[in-house]
Amino acid sequence: MCWGWRESFQNFLNDLHERPAGMNIDRIDPYSHYSCGHCKECDAYGWPANCKWATRQEQIANRSKHSLKGMLLERIASDFLAAK
Ligand SMILES: [Zn+2]
Repeated sequence: MCWGWRESFQNFLNDLHERPAGMNIDRIDPYSHYSCGHCKECDAYGWPANCKWATRQEQIANRSKHSLKGMLLERIASDFLAAK
């Protein structure tokens, strides 16, 4: 997590607001940081705002776009859901 959010949970709430029901924090780019995009550390490293609320399904789909392991996980998850 970047400095702005480590420094104050209120900063985090200001940026992302309260957690919607059933949503989890997710990174837009899974290989990048949990960053707010506008604190002194984000400015220093050029980190963009990289977090959003996502459903479990969105998190799985997001990861699958970025890694082979993610693709396997998505496959397992869809098989699991299909078997229900
Ligand atoms: Zn930041």
